[in-house]
Parts: sequence; C-alpha cells; structure tokens
Amino acid sequence: MKFNTKTIHGGQEHDPAYGAVMPPIYQTSTYAQTTPGGHKGFEYSRTHNPTRKALENAFASIENGKHGLAFGSGLAAIDAVIKLLKPGDEVISTNDLYGGTYRLFTKIFEDFGIKFHFIGMENADKVEGYVNKNTKLIWVETPTNPMMNIINIQAISEVSKKHNLLLAVDNTFATPFLQRPLDLGADIVMHSATKYIGGHSDLVMGALIVKNDDLAERLYFIQNASGAVCGPQDSFLALRGIKTLHVRMQRHCENGEAIAKYLKNHPKIEKVYWPGFEDHPNHEIAKAQMDGFGGMISFVTKDSNYAEAIKIVENLKIFTLAESLGGVESLAGHPASMTHASIPKEEREKTGVVDSLIRLSVGIEDVNDLIADLEQAIG
Ligand SMILES: *Cc1c(COP(=O)(O)O)cnc(C)c1O
Repeated sequence: MKFNTKTIHGGQEHDPAYGAVMPPIYQTSTYAQTTPGGHKGFEYSRTHNPTRKALENAFASIENGKHGLAFGSGLAAIDAVIKLLKPGDEVISTNDLYGGTYRLFTKIFEDFGIKFHFIGMENADKVEGYVNKNTKLIWVETPTNPMMNIINIQAISEVSKKHNLLLAVDNTFATPFLQRPLDLGADIVMHSATKYIGGHSDLVMGALIVKNDDLAERLYFIQNASGAVCGPQDSFLALRGIKTLHVRMQRHCENGEAIAKYLKNHPKIEKVYWPGFEDHPNHEIAKAQMDGFGGMISFVTKDSNYAEAIKIVENLKIFTLAESLGGVESLAGHPASMTHASIPKEEREKTGVVDSLIRLSVGIEDVNDLIADLEQAIG
C-alpha cells in the first residue's frame, strides 16, 4: 500500500458489529465478561479500547511500524519513553528542542537520576563522542523547533546501533508524509498528534510507533501501568485527521514554500529559516531524508527587537497568534515569550532563539491571503 492509501485504510477494518465504515466511538470504561476472563479482547479502557486500537493501528501503518501506542499528549508519550530508563542512565538529546520536552527532561527526569546531554547533532561523530557506558538513548527532533535544523537520522542511527542504544525521533514537524524515521534506522517514532496528525487544532494527543516486539511490549506495559492514555472521542478525531494527512501536508508544503520565498525577498527581513532553501546549512540532508520541506518557517526582521517582533505578531489578522502548529489554520508564534519561555535566555540564544524570532505554522488557506496578511503586518 502506498502512503496516500495507508492514511485512509492502513490497519483499518470496518466495525465487526454493524459494518460501520468509521470505527465507532466506544465511550466505555469497561466490557462485559461472560465468566471471569471471558471477554472479547477488551477488559478495561486504560488497557485497551477499540477506538484507540483502530487509531494505534493507523499510527503503525503510516510510520511503517508494527506497533502504535496513543497517549493523552505528546509529552505523555515522551514520558513513557524515558520510563524505559533507570537512575544513572544517560540520554544524548538534540539541544534545539521543543520547550516542553526540555522541561520534562530537566525539571522532572533529572530529579530521578537520569542525565541528559543537550548537544548540536550536525555531526554523528560529535554525538558518538558523548556515548559512555551509561548511555541508553539518543533523542532526536528533526526538523528542530523553531530553528529548522535538520539532523541526519540515518547517520545517528549508525551510532545508536554500534553502541546498542535506542534511537527515538520526534517526527511531529515532518510527519510520515515527509519523513519515516523507522525506515532510516530509528527504534521509536514519537508524535505530538496534537499538531499535523490531528491537523485541526481540536485535540491534544501523543503517539509512539515501533517495529520491535519486545520494545513494544515494554512500552505497552508503561502505557497501561502509568495510564496516560487518550479517550475514545479524541481517538476518533485523530483517526479522522489521519485520513486527510496527505492532502493537507501537500498544501502545507506548497504554501510554506511560497511564503518562505516571499519572506526571503522582503527588504525588511534579515533571515528566513526553512530547509527548502539551497543555502540552508542542512539542505542536502533535508533533500535526501525528506519528501518535501513542510510548512514551518521561522524568521527575524532587520534591526528587529523584542517590541517589534511582538508588534508584527499582534498585527497579523489571518494568522492567529497562538501556541501550537500543524492545524489547517495559519498560526504565528513568538518562541522567546511563548513556546520557549521555559528555556533560560542564554540557553535559548545559543541555538538562535533570539528575542526577535517569529515562527509561522503555515496553514492551508489561500496563499495570496496569507502573503497579503504578512505584508500588512510587517509593513
Ligand atoms: C507540541 C510538541 C510536543 C509536545 O506535545 P503535546 O501534545 O503538546 O504534549 C513535542 N514535540 C514537538 C516537536 C511539539 O511540537
């Protein structure tokens, strides 16, 4: 099955009860048993729910995995991955990281005795330099948020395989439409399904996808034992979102390209971060490991400062000033005061998240309206 068919049919079957084409929302916590243990594969909805199961099968299919797991948020999915570790274990992580992931690692799991190294991953030898006998996991986010750096997943996977480590990739920005980390050697793919997967800014959800049966079993144990699952209603919405992922992503990419080029030619814009530009430092890797460049763009204005960046995002009318990304509607954000406010200023600025940086999640509206909106806001 090709990707554009998998989004609609992958892992899906019509409901066995009445043939419903979409899986019903099984809004139930428990399931009748004829005799103790005599059930139809479902006992309690933290452990299993048929609507969630249909979604988890779809996750596995679109990422070319074998097992999918759905969680109550992206961070709950990351939390489950780190719970594979023990005190004393070490993690090598991308430094230009989603702010909430950084907060989870440093403010929660460091207190449990897990050590994190946050590094630039432009080069696999550098990553290997941080491997020691306690290293268990490499955590990669690519494209990175919000600087749009691209990390070579295959090169990092060679390091992880050589040293018997797990490699997890946060694939939220690219989605499997553009990039399939399991095919490139990753062990775990993670999503904030809140973003492009759901696609309509109407739910909060996370996902993990793996190929290996043993690893899947350990993660299913954590999912059930820690209990951060998503409900059937949200599972239904995410499944509906997946069915249009490929058409939405195609338009996000087209609009993203047009807006990146518009901004690059704008006399008031200093720099545009978008991996589709030939002068982007990781353009060649992006071209090789992705099937397109996506709809996420960051930029800074010339002579810009905090106040001017705030004025621009406030002036936008079609772009909504909001956290989050990946929905059909265009959003603008100011990372220094919003998504990345939890990262100390010196840490932030080391990776380029300066006070004047603006991040766009380009939606699927008419691109001329979006450009006209930017034009009036930037002035
Ligand atoms: C939003 C996001 C997360 C966290 O997901 P939630 O669903 O908000 O918990 C993790 N990684 C990336 C790249 C994100 O954009």
